[in-house]
Amino acid sequence: MRYDLDGEAPFKSFGTDAIHAGQEPEKWDSRSVVPLIGLSTTFKQESPGVLRHDKYEYSRGGNPTRECLEECVAKIENGKHALAYASGLAATMSMVEALLENGDHAVTGDDLYGGTNRYFNKVASKHGVEFTMVDVRNPDNVVAAIKPNTKMVWFELMSNPLLRIGDVKTIAEKVHAVNKDIVVCVDNTFLSSYNARPLDLGADVVMHSATKYMNGHSDVVMGLLAMKSDELKKKLMFAQFAIGAVPSAFDCYLVNRGLKTLHVRMQRHGENGLACAKFLESHDRVAGVSYPGLPSHPQHEVFKTIARSCSGMVVFYIKGGLQEAKTFLASLKVFTLAESLGGFESLAEHPAIMTHASVPEDQRKVLGISDTFIRLSVGLEDEADLLADLDQALKAALPTV
Ligand SMILES: *Cc1c(COP(=O)(O)O)cnc(C)c1O
Repeated sequence: MRYDLDGEAPFKSFGTDAIHAGQEPEKWDSRSVVPLIGLSTTFKQESPGVLRHDKYEYSRGGNPTRECLEECVAKIENGKHALAYASGLAATMSMVEALLENGDHAVTGDDLYGGTNRYFNKVASKHGVEFTMVDVRNPDNVVAAIKPNTKMVWFELMSNPLLRIGDVKTIAEKVHAVNKDIVVCVDNTFLSSYNARPLDLGADVVMHSATKYMNGHSDVVMGLLAMKSDELKKKLMFAQFAIGAVPSAFDCYLVNRGLKTLHVRMQRHGENGLACAKFLESHDRVAGVSYPGLPSHPQHEVFKTIARSCSGMVVFYIKGGLQEAKTFLASLKVFTLAESLGGFESLAEHPAIMTHASVPEDQRKVLGISDTFIRLSVGLEDEADLLADLDQALKAALPTV
C-alpha cells in the first residue's frame, strides 16, 4: 500500500539508482558490468604520497568495492555521501566518536535496538558522554531534553521493537530551531531506504544496520551512514579511518548486490507484512497488534506523511502468558525462531528473552516488552503459507480461546 507524500514523485528513479549508481563499468579497465571485489589491502603509488586518481592508499581508508557501495547508498538516500562500517553498532560508535566529547550530551529515543541502548548507556557513557532517553512520539519531549551541551539527537524512525514512529520532519525542525548545530541522526533500519528518506525530511544523518533489509539475505553484518553535509562527511570519514571499524570488500560486494533488489523486496515485504498484521488483528488468540501500516496504529496518520509504505516488521501480544508465547514460537514451521530481521526468510522472536534482554527489566516493563510480546520479520514467502503457519501455531499455543 502506497501513501501519497508531498512533492513531485517522491523517490523518483529509486530502482534505477539502486541498480546503477556507483556501478559504472568505466570504473574498471575491464569494463566489468558487475563491480569487482578488490581484495588488495594496499595500492601502488606514482611517487611517495602521490596516488593515482588521488585516492586509494590503504584499504582501511578507501577501497574500490566499498566505494561502489557507498556511492549507491548516497544516491538512494538522496544524500551526497555514505560510509560503510563493519556493523550497525560500529557505525553508531563512529558517530559518537566523531561528534561527542567528554562532557557532551545526547538525546535519544527510549525505544531503541537493545544493542544501541547498551552501547550508549553502558559503554559511551563511561567516556563522559551523557544520554537522556525520551519518548519521541511527542517531539516536544525531545526539545525539552535539549541542554546547552547537547550535540546529537538519535532515534529510530520506526522503533525496535515497539514500532513507534519518530516524526523526523517535526523533530528535526524543532531541534534545529533550538540549535541548528545539533546533529539529528535517524536509525532507519526497520524501513530501509526504500520506504522513507530521513535526509529529505530534515535529518542530518541516516543510519542503517545493513545486516537487515539493505542486504536482505541474512549473510552479512554491516552498518551504513549517509549524509548531505560535506563537513559531517569529513568528520565521519576521519573517524572511520582512525577507528578502523570497516567492512570487508567481499561484504561490500554482497550488500551492493542486495541493494539491486531492495525495491522489489520491500514491496513484497510490505504486502506480506500488511497481510500478516491484518490476519493477526482479526485472530481470536491475539490480544493486540501493532503495525504502522494499519489504521489501528495510533501514529498511522503521521506515518503516512513520512513514509511511502511499511515494511515486514509486525509485533503483537498473544493471549495467555509466557508459556503460550513459547509454545507459539516453538510451533511455527515457516517462520524461523531466530533473532535479526529484514531477510528474505520470515523470522519470529521473543524480544524480552532474545533481542532486548539487554534492556533493563524496569525499562522493558514501562515500554510494554512483556512475556506475551512477539516480534515478526515477515519475509518473501507466499502469503497463504505465512498466514496458515501463524494460524496453526496460535491454535497449538491456545487450543481453546
Ligand atoms: C540490528 C540493529 C542495529 C545494530 O546493527 P548490527 O548490524 O547488528 O550491529 C541497530 N539498529 C537497529 C534498529 C537494529 O535492528
